Amino acid sequence: MSLDEYRRKRDPKKTPEPFASRQSRKRAPTFVVQRHHARRLHYDFRLERDGVLASWAVPKGIPLEPGVRALAVHVEDHPLEYGAFEGEIPKGEYGAGTVEIWDRGTYELVEEKRDGGLTVRLHGERLDGTWTLIPAHLDGKEQNWLLVRKRDDHEVALRGDYRPMMATLAEELPRGDEWTFEVKWDGYRALGYVRNGEAKLVSRNGNDLTARFPTVARALVTAARSPDCVVDGEVCALDEKGRPSFSAMQQESPARRSSTSSSTCSRSTASRCSTGR
Ligand code: MN
Repeated sequence: MSLDEYRRKRDPKKTPEPFASRQSRKRAPTFVVQRHHARRLHYDFRLERDGVLASWAVPKGIPLEPGVRALAVHVEDHPLEYGAFEGEIPKGEYGAGTVEIWDRGTYELVEEKRDGGLTVRLHGERLDGTWTLIPAHLDGKEQNWLLVRKRDDHEVALRGDYRPMMATLAEELPRGDEWTFEVKWDGYRALGYVRNGEAKLVSRNGNDLTARFPTVARALVTAARSPDCVVDGEVCALDEKGRPSFSAMQQESPARRSSTSSSTCSRSTASRCSTGR
């Protein structure tokens, strides 16, 4: 057990985070990924090891593409109970901000190297595949590891060509539970590609709109709630009454532009969200 560092940083009277830790029984070890919107947005990757959660902070999110390397900063072990924690860490406390469970499940230890490197096969709801943690000591710092998605198993096949979901003419309104309706926003149609902590906006004709709407691109990274997804939406400026105004859009300063997304589709769950056609 090595929770001294964890407890040293936290006051149980001031934060709702768990403190105790119980021993694990014989069962598949668990993992959890928590989206932690602290001073800086990051994802905490935790593996159950020897009765505690070995933990890494991954600034750009768990890499979903085989071969992509992500910095993973090794941090102190956390108690097993932390795997169920979601909530607010109060202002002024260590890691102040919002914690949400992004994924969890069980894993198999595929390989453990002498240098501490780990290869694990994760069985989560979003994450399903093999990842390797490498104690790479980036910049000469012992805590700087790399997290890499292994190329071996079923690849994420979805990439590249997405097209905005356009309206089609109809004689009458379709009815039924499988339909939803949305406002016809008046602005610039854009696809937002969120990847590795950055977002790129692309117009219907394939033009890059990122530099034109930088605040929208930045806001999309935190709003999307996934480090890797494609969003189909409309960039528009709203007037005082909340109505989209195309003329306001052309006059607006970038800081006041707002976006609205009509449908979102995480790449890791893309097969489940091809609705609305
Ligand atoms: Mn964190």
